Amino acid sequence: MMTFLKHSFYYLATTLPFFGLTGALAAETGSRDESPSRYVLAVHGGSGAMGPDMPDDLRQEYREAVAAALRAGYAQLESGGSSLDAVEAAIVIMEDSPLFNAGKGAVFTHEGRNELDASIMTGNGLDGGAVAGVTNVKNPIRAARAVMEDTPHVLLATRGAEVFIEGTGLERVEPEYFWTERRWDALQRALERERERDESGSLDPDEVTHPEEYVGTVGAVALDREGNLAAGTSTGGMNNKRHGRIGDSPVIGAGTYADNATVAVSGTGWGEKFIRTAAAHSLSAMMAYQGLSVSEAAEAALERVASIDGYGGIIALDPRGNVAMPFNTRGMYRGRVTADGRIEVFIHHEE
Ligand code: ASP
Repeated sequence: MMTFLKHSFYYLATTLPFFGLTGALAAETGSRDESPSRYVLAVHGGSGAMGPDMPDDLRQEYREAVAAALRAGYAQLESGGSSLDAVEAAIVIMEDSPLFNAGKGAVFTHEGRNELDASIMTGNGLDGGAVAGVTNVKNPIRAARAVMEDTPHVLLATRGAEVFIEGTGLERVEPEYFWTERRWDALQRALERERERDESGSLDPDEVTHPEEYVGTVGAVALDREGNLAAGTSTGGMNNKRHGRIGDSPVIGAGTYADNATVAVSGTGWGEKFIRTAAAHSLSAMMAYQGLSVSEAAEAALERVASIDGYGGIIALDPRGNVAMPFNTRGMYRGRVTADGRIEVFIHHEE
């Protein structure tokens, strides 16, 4: 009974703010795909070429890791934390896991280093922060949040970002922390293929975008009881990327976007295509200016990515708790939690 009351209270507390300032627009944009469940948090652990034939134990490991991220984020929301707290907590769990291409499990650059990117944004006032090409912070998502909260800037990159991180008190690590055999082997395979194809060593676009080699970028979108949306994304980028390459994940409007009036978005996939279509912001704009629902806008944003031969996936959460999680790859590690704490985890289409 207590649990029921607590959850009912939580549901009411999280529902009421939407009849305030953002209610009118939200009612329009959410009207065409109102889901019977109201979601407060969704995460992804990357989209890519994982086949339905993946071994059961590996599938189970991923499912458990996604569920753990959802539990961590939901715990923040349930105890009155903000959507930013939930996004950060969920992403930290996945950054600390070697399973995902973010934090501990990051892919390698062509030169055999790990250069990490992350961003976070709140829909409350459109504030955002990001870091790109960092090598010394255990949890890049925390560094992104520090940029948002402690500087007048949105994006700090490479050495400047690292100097900033040194002054934050965030946990730092030696670059070796990010070494994992699985990602190292993936780089060696890519380098070998590259050598076979092109003795000159020039960049082969097909090679850098080999989806089974870099899958695992992570992201989260959340809605708190104040009605604030937030989104975050964290990645090692793409396997065998060139030194200094920055993808969509730390770019506000490309890999991450949040606006309380429309939607919170995190993307994964071929970053250059997400940048070129301004995917995350396009999704929000289609809801704001064309009145599309979150599902319609998420599909349309992904179609634009596909129209320039891009692939990937998107998670998007609107202010009424409707979630869309489309992808055009074989799978996407993903999950969501309802306002009353029901966790759902998926990997492939048919589940
Ligand atoms: N979007 C990321 C990047 O291009 C990679 C991914 O999502 O898998 O850096």
